[in-house]
Amino acid sequence: MDDLDFMTLAVLEAEAAMLRGDVPVGAVLVRDGEVLAAGSNTKTIDPTAHAEIQAIRAGAERLGNWNLRECDLYVTLEPCPMCAGACVAARIRTIIFGSSDPRAGAVGTLYDIPSDRRLNHRCAVRSGILKERCEALLKEYFIMRRKTKSG
Ligand SMILES: [Zn+2]
Repeated sequence: MDDLDFMTLAVLEAEAAMLRGDVPVGAVLVRDGEVLAAGSNTKTIDPTAHAEIQAIRAGAERLGNWNLRECDLYVTLEPCPMCAGACVAARIRTIIFGSSDPRAGAVGTLYDIPSDRRLNHRCAVRSGILKERCEALLKEYFIMRRKTKSG
């Protein structure tokens, strides 16, 4: 399993979110080459229910430990400030994301939280994996939503 394989799994999570009518963002948490947990954006009354938070919570619960320093997080969209902060808090080793987010990206676009030396942990970052596919999903979702609203 490599970056492409794990990002493909994150895309499948995003597609599942889309089928439920949620914003298609998916995440998988990987340790030692194995998927530990997965998550996708969930439309609930919880504004923190982003894909990354779901995967981090499920992974920490599975390990019985808040410290995920041996884990890598794959996510289809660049994490927002909340999720980038959660990655730092959970000591995530590497964040791997698909498409950049010009509106809320906090892993290099608007902010660069995982590289901020003032914080007590830094995550390595790789980006652009399956970028086009991740972007296309979001585009499709927003076109669909606009159509539903107008008609
Ligand atoms: Zn987020």
